[in-house]
Amino acid sequence: MTENETASTTHFIKAIIEEDLAANKNDGKVATRFPPEPNGYLHIGHAKSICLNFGIAQTYNGTCNLRFDDTNPTKEDVEYVDAIMEDVHWLGFDWQDRLYYASDYFERLYEFAVELINAGKAYVDDQTADQIRENRGTLTEAGVDSPFRNRSAEENLDLFKRMRAGEFADGSRVLRAKIDMAHPNLIMRDPTLYRIRKTSHHRTGDAWCIYPMYDFTHCLSDSLEGITHSLCTLEFENNRPLYDWVLDNVTPPCHPQQIEFARLNLTFTVLSKRKLIQLVEEGYVSAWDDPRMPTICGLRRRGYTPESIRNFCDRIGLAKRDSVVDVALLEYSIREDLNKRAPRVMGVLNPLKVVIENYPEGQVDELEAVNNPEDPSAGVRKVPFSREIYIERDDFMENPPKKFFRLGPGREVRLRYAFFVTCTDVIKDETSGEIVELRCTYDPATRGGDAPDGRKVKATLHWVSAAHAVEAEVRLYDRLFNKPNPDEKEEGKTFKDFMNPGALEIRTGCKLEPCLADVGPGYFCQFERLGYFCVDSKDSAPGALVFNRTVTLRDAWAKLQKKG
Ligand code: ATP
Ligand code: MG
Repeated sequence: MTENETASTTHFIKAIIEEDLAANKNDGKVATRFPPEPNGYLHIGHAKSICLNFGIAQTYNGTCNLRFDDTNPTKEDVEYVDAIMEDVHWLGFDWQDRLYYASDYFERLYEFAVELINAGKAYVDDQTADQIRENRGTLTEAGVDSPFRNRSAEENLDLFKRMRAGEFADGSRVLRAKIDMAHPNLIMRDPTLYRIRKTSHHRTGDAWCIYPMYDFTHCLSDSLEGITHSLCTLEFENNRPLYDWVLDNVTPPCHPQQIEFARLNLTFTVLSKRKLIQLVEEGYVSAWDDPRMPTICGLRRRGYTPESIRNFCDRIGLAKRDSVVDVALLEYSIREDLNKRAPRVMGVLNPLKVVIENYPEGQVDELEAVNNPEDPSAGVRKVPFSREIYIERDDFMENPPKKFFRLGPGREVRLRYAFFVTCTDVIKDETSGEIVELRCTYDPATRGGDAPDGRKVKATLHWVSAAHAVEAEVRLYDRLFNKPNPDEKEEGKTFKDFMNPGALEIRTGCKLEPCLADVGPGYFCQFERLGYFCVDSKDSAPGALVFNRTVTLRDAWAKLQKKG
Protein backbone atom coordinates (compact mmCIF):
# COMPACT_ATOMS: atom_id res chain seq x y z
CA MET A 1 0.00 0.00 0.00
CA THR A 2 1.46 3.38 -0.91
CA GLU A 3 1.17 6.67 0.96
CA ASN A 4 -1.22 7.99 -1.64
CA GLU A 5 -3.56 5.09 -1.37
CA THR A 6 -3.86 5.51 2.38
CA ALA A 7 -4.24 9.26 2.19
CA SER A 8 -7.11 8.96 -0.25
CA THR A 9 -8.96 6.34 1.82
CA THR A 10 -12.64 6.93 1.51
CA HIS A 11 -15.50 5.22 3.29
CA PHE A 12 -19.24 5.26 3.79
CA ILE A 13 -19.20 7.92 6.49
CA LYS A 14 -17.25 10.30 4.27
CA ALA A 15 -19.78 9.57 1.52
CA ILE A 16 -22.67 10.53 3.85
CA ILE A 17 -20.90 13.71 4.92
CA GLU A 18 -20.12 14.69 1.35
CA GLU A 19 -23.77 14.25 0.43
CA ASP A 20 -24.81 16.39 3.38
CA LEU A 21 -22.31 19.07 2.39
CA ALA A 22 -23.55 19.01 -1.19
CA ALA A 23 -27.12 19.51 0.11
CA ASN A 24 -25.92 22.25 2.47
CA LYS A 25 -27.34 20.34 5.41
CA ASN A 26 -26.29 21.81 8.82
CA ASP A 27 -25.39 25.04 6.94
CA GLY A 28 -22.47 23.18 5.42
CA LYS A 29 -20.86 22.55 8.79
CA VAL A 30 -19.24 19.37 10.02
CA ALA A 31 -18.92 18.90 13.78
CA THR A 32 -17.90 15.64 15.40
CA ARG A 33 -16.84 14.61 18.89
CA PHE A 34 -14.86 11.92 20.62
CA PRO A 35 -16.82 10.94 23.74
CA PRO A 36 -14.82 8.67 26.06
CA GLU A 37 -16.15 7.55 29.40
CA PRO A 38 -13.37 8.26 31.93
CA ASN A 39 -13.49 4.80 33.45
CA GLY A 40 -10.24 3.43 32.06
CA TYR A 41 -7.36 4.19 29.75
CA LEU A 42 -7.75 4.49 25.99
CA HIS A 43 -6.83 1.53 23.83
CA ILE A 44 -6.06 0.99 20.17
CA GLY A 45 -9.81 0.63 19.46
CA HIS A 46 -10.33 4.16 20.73
CA ALA A 47 -7.53 5.29 18.43
CA LYS A 48 -9.72 4.19 15.52
CA SER A 49 -12.55 6.37 16.79
CA ILE A 50 -10.19 9.30 17.53
CA CYS A 51 -8.62 9.14 14.06
CA LEU A 52 -12.07 8.93 12.52
CA ASN A 53 -13.65 11.82 14.43
CA PHE A 54 -10.70 14.20 14.41
CA GLY A 55 -9.75 13.09 10.91
CA ILE A 56 -13.20 13.91 9.53
CA ALA A 57 -13.05 17.34 11.14
CA GLN A 58 -9.67 17.95 9.48
CA THR A 59 -10.78 16.70 6.09
CA TYR A 60 -13.96 18.79 5.97
CA ASN A 61 -12.68 21.86 7.72
CA GLY A 62 -14.92 21.15 10.66
CA THR A 63 -14.46 20.77 14.39
CA CYS A 64 -14.07 17.85 16.74
CA ASN A 65 -14.83 18.15 20.44
CA LEU A 66 -13.39 16.10 23.25
CA ARG A 67 -16.25 15.27 25.58
CA PHE A 68 -16.01 13.19 28.70
CA ASP A 69 -19.10 11.09 29.07
CA ASP A 70 -18.96 11.24 32.83
CA THR A 71 -22.43 10.24 33.98
CA ASN A 72 -21.48 7.25 36.12
CA PRO A 73 -19.89 8.57 39.33
CA THR A 74 -19.05 5.13 40.70
CA LYS A 75 -16.52 4.13 38.04
CA GLU A 76 -14.93 7.37 36.99
CA ASP A 77 -11.76 9.07 38.02
CA VAL A 78 -9.68 12.17 37.22
CA GLU A 79 -6.67 9.92 36.71
CA TYR A 80 -8.45 8.63 33.61
CA VAL A 81 -9.47 12.09 32.45
CA ASP A 82 -5.86 13.29 32.49
CA ALA A 83 -4.56 10.15 30.80
CA ILE A 84 -7.15 10.38 28.03
CA MET A 85 -6.23 13.98 27.25
CA GLU A 86 -2.55 13.10 27.16
CA ASP A 87 -3.20 10.18 24.80
CA VAL A 88 -5.36 12.16 22.36
CA HIS A 89 -2.71 14.87 22.18
CA TRP A 90 0.04 12.32 21.76
CA LEU A 91 -1.83 10.77 18.84
CA GLY A 92 -1.54 14.18 17.20
CA PHE A 93 -5.02 15.61 17.64
CA ASP A 94 -6.24 18.73 19.36
CA TRP A 95 -9.68 19.79 20.55
CA GLN A 96 -8.48 23.39 21.01
CA ASP A 97 -10.93 25.13 23.34
CA ARG A 98 -13.60 22.50 22.89
CA LEU A 99 -13.13 20.36 25.98
CA TYR A 100 -16.49 19.37 27.42
CA TYR A 101 -17.92 17.19 30.15
CA ALA A 102 -21.39 15.69 30.04
CA SER A 103 -21.53 16.59 33.74
CA ASP A 104 -21.41 20.28 32.73
CA TYR A 105 -24.85 19.70 31.21
CA PHE A 106 -26.50 18.18 34.28
CA GLU A 107 -28.66 21.25 34.85
CA ARG A 108 -29.69 21.48 31.20
CA LEU A 109 -30.38 17.76 31.07
CA TYR A 110 -32.56 18.09 34.15
CA GLU A 111 -34.56 20.79 32.37
CA PHE A 112 -35.03 18.53 29.35
CA ALA A 113 -36.28 15.79 31.67
CA VAL A 114 -38.75 18.24 33.18
CA GLU A 115 -39.86 19.11 29.67
CA LEU A 116 -40.59 15.43 28.99
CA ILE A 117 -42.48 15.11 32.28
CA ASN A 118 -44.61 18.15 31.55
CA ALA A 119 -45.46 16.76 28.14
CA GLY A 120 -46.56 13.48 29.75
CA LYS A 121 -43.63 11.66 28.15
CA ALA A 122 -41.73 10.63 31.25
CA TYR A 123 -42.77 9.24 34.63
CA VAL A 124 -41.32 8.33 37.96
CA ASP A 125 -41.45 4.59 38.51
CA ASP A 126 -41.37 3.12 42.03
CA GLN A 127 -40.81 -0.44 40.87
CA THR A 128 -37.62 -2.14 41.97
CA ALA A 129 -34.88 -2.82 39.42
CA ASP A 130 -35.90 -6.48 39.42
CA GLN A 131 -39.53 -5.68 38.78
CA ILE A 132 -38.60 -3.37 35.96
CA ARG A 133 -36.50 -6.10 34.40
CA GLU A 134 -39.22 -8.73 34.80
CA ASN A 135 -41.86 -6.46 33.33
CA ARG A 136 -39.80 -5.53 30.32
CA GLY A 137 -40.88 -8.69 28.47
CA THR A 138 -38.79 -10.52 25.91
CA LEU A 139 -38.16 -10.49 22.19
CA THR A 140 -41.30 -12.55 21.73
CA GLU A 141 -43.46 -11.14 24.54
CA ALA A 142 -44.59 -7.61 25.10
CA GLY A 143 -43.68 -5.94 28.38
CA VAL A 144 -46.11 -5.04 31.14
CA ASP A 145 -46.98 -1.42 31.93
CA SER A 146 -45.74 -0.20 35.27
CA PRO A 147 -48.51 0.48 37.81
CA PHE A 148 -46.96 3.97 38.10
CA ARG A 149 -47.02 4.66 34.39
CA ASN A 150 -50.09 6.85 34.43
CA ARG A 151 -49.14 9.24 37.18
CA SER A 152 -50.08 12.83 36.44
CA ALA A 153 -47.46 15.27 35.21
CA GLU A 154 -47.81 17.18 38.51
CA GLU A 155 -47.15 14.12 40.60
CA ASN A 156 -44.22 13.10 38.42
CA LEU A 157 -42.71 16.55 38.60
CA ASP A 158 -43.07 16.63 42.37
CA LEU A 159 -41.45 13.20 42.74
CA PHE A 160 -38.66 14.02 40.30
CA LYS A 161 -37.84 17.21 42.21
CA ARG A 162 -37.77 15.25 45.43
CA MET A 163 -35.52 12.63 43.81
CA ARG A 164 -33.14 15.44 43.02
CA ALA A 165 -33.44 16.82 46.55
CA GLY A 166 -32.23 13.51 47.94
CA GLU A 167 -35.46 12.45 49.65
CA PHE A 168 -35.37 8.87 48.33
CA ALA A 169 -32.93 6.03 48.68
CA ASP A 170 -30.71 4.70 45.91
CA GLY A 171 -32.64 2.38 43.63
CA SER A 172 -36.04 3.24 45.10
CA ARG A 173 -37.26 5.23 42.12
CA VAL A 174 -36.22 6.00 38.55
CA LEU A 175 -37.41 8.37 35.87
CA ARG A 176 -38.49 6.54 32.73
CA ALA A 177 -39.43 7.65 29.26
CA LYS A 178 -43.04 6.84 28.42
CA ILE A 179 -42.69 5.24 25.01
CA ASP A 180 -44.20 1.80 24.44
CA MET A 181 -43.93 -1.34 26.58
CA ALA A 182 -44.77 -3.47 23.54
CA HIS A 183 -42.15 -1.93 21.29
CA PRO A 184 -40.33 -4.56 19.19
CA ASN A 185 -37.02 -2.92 20.16
CA LEU A 186 -36.57 -3.68 23.87
CA ILE A 187 -34.53 -0.52 24.36
CA MET A 188 -37.67 1.49 23.56
CA ARG A 189 -39.76 -0.16 26.30
CA ASP A 190 -39.86 2.84 28.61
CA PRO A 191 -36.09 3.16 29.09
CA THR A 192 -34.71 4.56 32.33
CA LEU A 193 -33.58 8.17 31.99
CA TYR A 194 -32.46 8.94 35.56
CA ARG A 195 -31.50 6.92 38.58
CA ILE A 196 -30.65 7.81 42.15
CA ARG A 197 -27.01 7.38 43.11
CA LYS A 198 -25.91 9.04 46.33
CA THR A 199 -22.29 9.06 45.28
CA SER A 200 -19.85 11.94 44.91
CA HIS A 201 -18.98 12.77 41.34
CA HIS A 202 -15.38 13.57 40.40
CA ARG A 203 -16.45 16.96 39.04
CA THR A 204 -19.84 17.89 40.48
CA GLY A 205 -19.09 16.60 43.97
CA ASP A 206 -22.30 16.15 45.94
CA ALA A 207 -24.37 18.63 43.92
CA TRP A 208 -26.34 15.78 42.40
CA CYS A 209 -27.71 12.51 43.66
CA ILE A 210 -29.63 11.69 40.48
CA TYR A 211 -27.61 10.87 37.40
CA PRO A 212 -28.83 10.73 33.78
CA MET A 213 -28.43 7.54 31.78
CA TYR A 214 -26.20 7.26 28.74
CA ASP A 215 -29.00 7.20 26.16
CA PHE A 216 -30.56 10.36 27.53
CA THR A 217 -27.27 12.17 28.02
CA HIS A 218 -25.48 11.35 24.83
CA CYS A 219 -27.94 12.65 22.25
CA LEU A 220 -28.63 15.81 24.23
CA SER A 221 -24.94 16.50 24.81
CA ASP A 222 -24.38 16.08 21.08
CA SER A 223 -27.21 18.50 20.39
CA LEU A 224 -26.05 21.08 22.95
CA GLU A 225 -22.63 21.08 21.28
CA GLY A 226 -24.06 21.41 17.78
CA ILE A 227 -22.64 18.09 16.67
CA THR A 228 -23.71 17.27 13.10
CA HIS A 229 -22.55 13.67 12.79
CA SER A 230 -22.48 11.53 15.92
CA LEU A 231 -20.25 8.60 15.04
CA CYS A 232 -20.39 5.57 17.28
CA THR A 233 -19.75 1.85 17.21
CA LEU A 234 -22.22 -0.74 15.99
CA GLU A 235 -23.43 -1.89 19.39
CA PHE A 236 -25.36 1.39 19.56
CA GLU A 237 -27.39 0.65 16.45
CA ASN A 238 -30.37 -0.50 18.53
CA ASN A 239 -30.08 2.67 20.62
CA ARG A 240 -30.48 4.93 17.59
CA PRO A 241 -34.31 5.00 17.77
CA LEU A 242 -34.01 6.17 21.38
CA TYR A 243 -31.37 8.75 20.42
CA ASP A 244 -33.85 10.12 17.90
CA TRP A 245 -36.89 9.77 20.19
CA VAL A 246 -35.35 11.90 22.91
CA LEU A 247 -34.37 14.62 20.46
CA ASP A 248 -37.80 14.50 18.79
CA ASN A 249 -39.65 14.89 22.09
CA VAL A 250 -37.87 17.85 23.65
CA THR A 251 -36.83 21.14 22.07
CA PRO A 252 -33.11 20.65 21.51
CA PRO A 253 -30.88 23.12 19.65
CA CYS A 254 -30.37 20.65 16.78
CA HIS A 255 -30.80 17.02 15.83
CA PRO A 256 -27.47 15.34 15.07
CA GLN A 257 -27.36 12.22 12.96
CA GLN A 258 -26.08 9.08 14.65
CA ILE A 259 -24.03 6.86 12.33
CA GLU A 260 -22.62 3.52 13.44
CA PHE A 261 -19.39 1.88 12.30
CA ALA A 262 -17.69 -1.40 13.16
CA ARG A 263 -15.46 -1.36 16.20
CA LEU A 264 -11.89 -2.52 15.93
CA ASN A 265 -11.15 -6.05 17.02
CA LEU A 266 -7.58 -7.34 16.91
CA THR A 267 -6.27 -10.88 16.96
CA PHE A 268 -4.31 -11.95 20.06
CA THR A 269 -5.73 -8.92 21.89
CA VAL A 270 -8.62 -7.96 24.12
CA LEU A 271 -10.06 -4.48 23.64
CA SER A 272 -12.49 -3.84 26.41
CA LYS A 273 -11.81 -1.57 29.31
CA ARG A 274 -13.71 -3.95 31.55
CA LYS A 275 -11.22 -6.70 30.72
CA LEU A 276 -8.12 -4.53 30.58
CA ILE A 277 -8.85 -3.19 34.05
CA GLN A 278 -8.85 -6.78 35.36
CA LEU A 279 -5.37 -7.36 33.94
CA VAL A 280 -4.15 -4.28 35.80
CA GLU A 281 -5.99 -4.80 39.07
CA GLU A 282 -5.26 -8.52 39.29
CA GLY A 283 -1.56 -8.00 38.57
CA TYR A 284 -1.33 -9.78 35.22
CA VAL A 285 0.50 -6.72 33.95
CA SER A 286 2.39 -4.01 35.82
CA ALA A 287 0.08 -1.10 34.98
CA TRP A 288 -2.14 0.39 32.27
CA ASP A 289 1.05 1.41 30.47
CA ASP A 290 2.67 -2.00 30.64
CA PRO A 291 4.25 -2.34 27.19
CA ARG A 292 2.27 -5.55 26.60
CA MET A 293 -1.04 -3.69 26.92
CA PRO A 294 -3.03 -2.59 23.84
CA THR A 295 -3.60 0.76 25.55
CA ILE A 296 -2.34 3.90 23.88
CA CYS A 297 0.04 4.52 26.78
CA GLY A 298 1.20 0.90 26.66
CA LEU A 299 1.86 1.11 22.94
CA ARG A 300 3.66 4.43 23.47
CA ARG A 301 5.90 2.92 26.13
CA ARG A 302 6.47 -0.09 23.90
CA GLY A 303 7.85 2.26 21.24
CA TYR A 304 4.91 2.73 18.88
CA THR A 305 4.85 6.14 17.24
CA PRO A 306 1.70 8.23 16.73
CA GLU A 307 2.37 8.09 12.98
CA SER A 308 2.35 4.30 12.98
CA ILE A 309 -0.96 4.17 14.83
CA ARG A 310 -2.55 6.75 12.54
CA ASN A 311 -1.33 4.84 9.48
CA PHE A 312 -2.72 1.66 10.94
CA CYS A 313 -6.11 3.30 11.47
CA ASP A 314 -6.07 4.49 7.87
CA ARG A 315 -5.23 1.06 6.56
CA ILE A 316 -7.93 -0.85 8.41
CA GLY A 317 -10.56 1.38 6.84
CA LEU A 318 -14.10 1.73 8.08
CA ALA A 319 -16.83 -0.82 7.66
CA LYS A 320 -20.43 -1.35 8.70
CA ARG A 321 -19.86 -4.93 9.69
CA ASP A 322 -17.69 -6.27 12.52
CA SER A 323 -14.48 -7.98 11.62
CA VAL A 324 -11.18 -8.89 13.22
CA VAL A 325 -7.96 -7.25 12.10
CA ASP A 326 -4.73 -9.26 12.23
CA VAL A 327 -2.43 -7.79 14.89
CA ALA A 328 0.39 -8.42 12.37
CA LEU A 329 -0.90 -5.37 10.50
CA LEU A 330 -0.38 -3.19 13.57
CA GLU A 331 3.13 -4.60 13.94
CA TYR A 332 3.75 -3.99 10.26
CA SER A 333 2.76 -0.34 10.67
CA ILE A 334 5.35 0.36 13.35
CA ARG A 335 8.01 -1.65 11.56
CA GLU A 336 7.41 0.33 8.39
CA ASP A 337 7.66 3.65 10.24
CA LEU A 338 10.77 2.76 12.22
CA ASN A 339 12.47 1.25 9.19
CA LYS A 340 12.55 4.76 7.74
CA ARG A 341 13.53 6.57 10.91
CA ALA A 342 15.35 4.35 13.37
CA PRO A 343 19.14 4.55 13.53
CA ARG A 344 20.84 1.16 13.34
CA VAL A 345 23.14 0.19 16.14
CA MET A 346 24.62 -3.05 17.41
CA GLY A 347 23.52 -4.66 20.63
CA VAL A 348 24.26 -8.12 21.93
CA LEU A 349 21.43 -9.44 24.06
CA ASN A 350 22.89 -12.81 24.99
CA PRO A 351 26.62 -12.16 25.02
CA LEU A 352 29.39 -14.65 24.38
CA LYS A 353 32.93 -13.33 24.77
CA VAL A 354 35.33 -13.64 21.85
CA VAL A 355 39.08 -13.03 22.21
CA ILE A 356 40.86 -12.22 18.97
CA GLU A 357 44.25 -13.64 19.64
CA ASN A 358 46.23 -11.98 16.86
CA TYR A 359 44.73 -8.52 17.57
CA PRO A 360 47.24 -6.43 19.54
CA GLU A 361 46.37 -5.76 23.18
CA GLY A 362 45.47 -2.14 23.84
CA GLN A 363 44.78 -1.36 20.17
CA VAL A 364 41.44 0.14 19.14
CA ASP A 365 40.21 0.50 15.57
CA GLU A 366 37.53 3.10 14.93
CA LEU A 367 35.36 1.62 12.22
CA GLU A 368 32.83 3.47 10.16
CA ALA A 369 29.21 2.29 10.37
CA VAL A 370 26.16 3.46 8.41
CA ASN A 371 23.46 4.91 10.65
CA ASN A 372 20.50 4.09 8.46
CA PRO A 373 20.73 2.48 5.02
CA GLU A 374 17.15 3.72 4.36
CA ASP A 375 18.12 7.30 5.04
CA PRO A 376 21.49 8.53 3.70
CA SER A 377 21.04 11.85 5.53
CA ALA A 378 21.42 9.97 8.82
CA GLY A 379 25.16 9.74 8.10
CA VAL A 380 27.79 7.49 9.63
CA ARG A 381 29.37 6.93 13.04
CA LYS A 382 32.52 5.37 14.47
CA VAL A 383 32.36 2.05 16.26
CA PRO A 384 35.35 0.93 18.34
CA PHE A 385 36.81 -2.53 17.77
CA SER A 386 39.25 -4.20 20.14
CA ARG A 387 40.81 -7.51 21.10
CA GLU A 388 37.84 -8.66 23.17
CA ILE A 389 34.35 -8.45 21.79
CA TYR A 390 30.93 -9.94 22.42
CA ILE A 391 28.83 -11.77 19.89
CA GLU A 392 25.38 -13.30 20.24
CA ARG A 393 25.48 -16.76 21.83
CA ASP A 394 23.03 -18.00 19.17
CA ASP A 395 25.48 -17.04 16.45
CA PHE A 396 27.86 -19.83 17.43
CA MET A 397 27.37 -23.58 17.32
CA GLU A 398 30.02 -26.09 18.22
CA ASN A 399 28.52 -28.73 15.96
CA PRO A 400 26.61 -26.71 13.39
CA PRO A 401 23.92 -28.54 11.42
CA LYS A 402 23.81 -28.25 7.62
CA LYS A 403 21.83 -25.06 7.37
CA PHE A 404 23.66 -23.12 10.07
CA PHE A 405 26.06 -20.75 8.31
CA ARG A 406 27.19 -18.62 11.23
CA LEU A 407 30.22 -19.18 13.44
CA GLY A 408 31.56 -22.65 14.30
CA PRO A 409 34.97 -24.17 15.01
CA GLY A 410 37.30 -23.46 12.08
CA ARG A 411 34.73 -21.25 10.33
CA GLU A 412 35.22 -17.74 9.02
CA VAL A 413 32.50 -15.07 9.25
CA ARG A 414 32.29 -11.30 8.86
CA LEU A 415 31.90 -8.99 11.82
CA ARG A 416 29.66 -6.19 10.62
CA TYR A 417 31.63 -3.08 9.51
CA ALA A 418 34.81 -4.69 10.91
CA PHE A 419 36.82 -7.76 9.93
CA PHE A 420 36.62 -11.40 8.96
CA VAL A 421 37.30 -13.64 11.95
CA THR A 422 37.92 -17.39 12.16
CA CYS A 423 37.13 -19.46 15.23
CA THR A 424 40.17 -21.34 16.45
CA ASP A 425 39.17 -22.57 19.89
CA VAL A 426 36.19 -23.06 22.21
CA ILE A 427 36.70 -22.52 25.94
CA LYS A 428 34.28 -24.29 28.28
CA ASP A 429 33.52 -24.20 31.95
CA GLU A 430 35.18 -27.30 33.36
CA THR A 431 32.33 -28.41 35.56
CA SER A 432 29.23 -27.34 33.62
CA GLY A 433 30.63 -27.79 30.13
CA GLU A 434 29.06 -24.48 29.13
CA ILE A 435 30.86 -22.49 26.46
CA VAL A 436 32.27 -19.39 28.15
CA GLU A 437 34.55 -17.93 25.51
CA LEU A 438 35.68 -18.30 21.92
CA ARG A 439 39.14 -17.75 20.57
CA CYS A 440 39.43 -16.34 17.08
CA THR A 441 41.94 -14.84 14.70
CA TYR A 442 41.16 -11.92 12.44
CA ASP A 443 42.39 -10.93 9.00
CA PRO A 444 43.58 -7.28 9.13
CA ALA A 445 43.26 -7.10 5.33
CA THR A 446 39.45 -7.35 5.61
CA ARG A 447 39.02 -4.05 7.48
CA GLY A 448 35.60 -2.61 6.69
CA GLY A 449 34.21 -6.06 5.94
CA ASP A 450 35.52 -7.10 2.55
CA ALA A 451 38.36 -9.42 1.56
CA PRO A 452 40.68 -7.94 -1.08
CA ASP A 453 41.23 -11.44 -2.47
CA GLY A 454 37.50 -11.72 -3.10
CA ARG A 455 36.87 -14.64 -0.74
CA LYS A 456 33.36 -14.85 0.62
CA VAL A 457 31.84 -15.70 3.95
CA LYS A 458 28.33 -16.96 4.51
CA ALA A 459 27.38 -14.87 7.53
CA THR A 460 27.73 -11.39 8.98
CA LEU A 461 27.43 -11.07 12.76
CA HIS A 462 26.81 -8.08 14.95
CA TRP A 463 29.20 -7.55 17.84
CA VAL A 464 30.21 -5.06 20.54
CA SER A 465 33.69 -4.28 21.83
CA ALA A 466 33.91 -5.57 25.42
CA ALA A 467 35.96 -2.71 26.79
CA HIS A 468 33.64 -0.11 25.30
CA ALA A 469 30.28 -1.81 25.81
CA VAL A 470 27.40 -0.10 27.57
CA GLU A 471 25.47 -2.47 29.82
CA ALA A 472 21.71 -2.53 29.68
CA GLU A 473 18.65 -4.47 30.61
CA VAL A 474 16.56 -5.37 27.60
CA ARG A 475 12.92 -6.42 27.85
CA LEU A 476 11.73 -8.59 25.03
CA TYR A 477 8.00 -8.18 24.57
CA ASP A 478 5.66 -10.37 22.64
CA ARG A 479 1.89 -10.72 22.19
CA LEU A 480 -0.02 -10.74 25.48
CA PHE A 481 -2.26 -13.64 24.49
CA ASN A 482 -1.36 -16.84 22.74
CA LYS A 483 -4.81 -17.48 21.27
CA PRO A 484 -5.95 -15.61 18.14
CA ASN A 485 -9.30 -14.84 19.73
CA PRO A 486 -8.88 -14.69 23.51
CA ASP A 487 -12.47 -13.40 23.85
CA GLU A 488 -13.98 -16.54 22.40
CA LYS A 489 -16.02 -18.42 24.98
CA GLU A 490 -14.56 -21.73 26.07
CA GLU A 491 -16.03 -24.05 28.66
CA GLY A 492 -14.72 -23.16 32.12
CA LYS A 493 -12.19 -20.64 30.84
CA THR A 494 -11.84 -16.90 30.60
CA PHE A 495 -9.64 -14.70 28.47
CA LYS A 496 -7.11 -14.73 31.31
CA ASP A 497 -6.46 -18.41 30.69
CA PHE A 498 -4.95 -17.57 27.32
CA MET A 499 -2.20 -15.23 28.39
CA ASN A 500 1.17 -15.78 26.78
CA PRO A 501 3.70 -16.53 29.53
CA GLY A 502 6.47 -15.61 27.08
CA ALA A 503 5.09 -12.11 26.50
CA LEU A 504 7.91 -10.67 28.60
CA GLU A 505 11.45 -11.95 28.74
CA ILE A 506 13.98 -9.86 30.64
CA ARG A 507 17.61 -9.97 29.59
CA THR A 508 20.14 -8.38 31.90
CA GLY A 509 23.81 -7.82 31.16
CA CYS A 510 23.20 -6.98 27.52
CA LYS A 511 26.11 -5.29 25.75
CA LEU A 512 25.41 -2.28 23.58
CA GLU A 513 27.46 -0.03 21.35
CA PRO A 514 29.06 2.87 23.28
CA CYS A 515 27.12 5.48 21.27
CA LEU A 516 24.13 4.52 23.45
CA ALA A 517 25.79 5.56 26.70
CA ASP A 518 23.78 8.74 27.11
CA VAL A 519 20.44 7.98 25.48
CA GLY A 520 17.27 8.49 27.47
CA PRO A 521 13.51 8.18 27.17
CA GLY A 522 12.28 8.98 23.68
CA TYR A 523 15.28 7.31 22.05
CA PHE A 524 14.56 4.47 19.63
CA CYS A 525 16.77 2.44 17.32
CA GLN A 526 17.13 -0.83 15.50
CA PHE A 527 19.48 -3.35 17.05
CA GLU A 528 20.78 -4.87 13.85
CA ARG A 529 19.29 -8.27 13.08
CA LEU A 530 17.17 -8.22 16.25
CA GLY A 531 14.38 -5.72 15.98
CA TYR A 532 13.34 -2.20 16.95
CA PHE A 533 13.91 -1.06 20.50
CA CYS A 534 13.31 2.04 22.60
CA VAL A 535 14.46 3.32 25.95
CA ASP A 536 11.85 2.58 28.62
CA SER A 537 10.23 5.79 29.78
CA LYS A 538 9.69 4.67 33.37
CA ASP A 539 12.47 2.38 34.49
CA SER A 540 15.52 3.53 32.53
CA ALA A 541 18.05 5.82 34.22
CA PRO A 542 21.48 7.19 33.33
CA GLY A 543 23.94 4.39 34.01
CA ALA A 544 21.11 1.85 34.31
CA LEU A 545 19.64 1.71 30.84
CA VAL A 546 16.48 -0.24 30.16
CA PHE A 547 15.38 -0.94 26.59
CA ASN A 548 12.06 -2.33 25.39
CA ARG A 549 11.74 -4.36 22.25
CA THR A 550 9.01 -2.69 20.23
CA VAL A 551 8.82 -5.31 17.51
CA THR A 552 11.02 -7.91 15.88
CA LEU A 553 12.17 -7.67 12.27
CA ARG A 554 10.09 -10.66 11.16
CA ASP A 555 7.28 -9.36 9.02
CA ALA A 556 4.35 -11.69 9.62
CA TRP A 557 2.10 -9.34 7.66
CA ALA A 558 4.10 -9.52 4.42
CA LYS A 559 4.06 -13.31 4.74
CA LEU A 560 0.30 -13.33 5.12
CA GLN A 561 -0.09 -11.07 2.11
CA LYS A 562 2.01 -13.40 -0.03
CA LYS A 563 0.03 -16.44 1.06
CA GLY A 564 -3.24 -14.60 0.48
P1 ATP B 1 -14.80 -0.52 25.94
O1 ATP B 1 -15.71 -1.43 25.18
O2 ATP B 1 -13.36 -0.75 25.67
O3 ATP B 1 -15.10 -0.44 27.38
P2 ATP B 1 -16.29 1.83 25.42
O4 ATP B 1 -17.02 1.84 24.16
O5 ATP B 1 -17.07 1.57 26.64
O6 ATP B 1 -15.03 0.89 25.29
P3 ATP B 1 -15.96 4.65 25.59
O7 ATP B 1 -15.07 5.40 26.48
O8 ATP B 1 -17.41 4.75 25.80
O9 ATP B 1 -15.49 3.14 25.65
O10 ATP B 1 -15.58 4.92 24.08
C1 ATP B 1 -15.38 6.18 23.52
C2 ATP B 1 -15.56 6.07 22.05
O11 ATP B 1 -14.64 5.14 21.49
C3 ATP B 1 -16.95 5.57 21.70
O12 ATP B 1 -17.46 6.36 20.67
C4 ATP B 1 -16.72 4.15 21.27
O13 ATP B 1 -17.68 3.76 20.33
C5 ATP B 1 -15.32 4.20 20.70
N1 ATP B 1 -14.69 2.88 20.78
C6 ATP B 1 -14.52 2.13 21.87
N2 ATP B 1 -13.95 0.96 21.57
C7 ATP B 1 -13.74 0.96 20.24
C8 ATP B 1 -13.20 0.03 19.30
N3 ATP B 1 -12.74 -1.17 19.68
N4 ATP B 1 -13.16 0.39 17.99
C9 ATP B 1 -13.59 1.58 17.60
N5 ATP B 1 -14.13 2.50 18.42
C10 ATP B 1 -14.21 2.20 19.73
MG1 MG C 1 -18.93 3.08 26.49
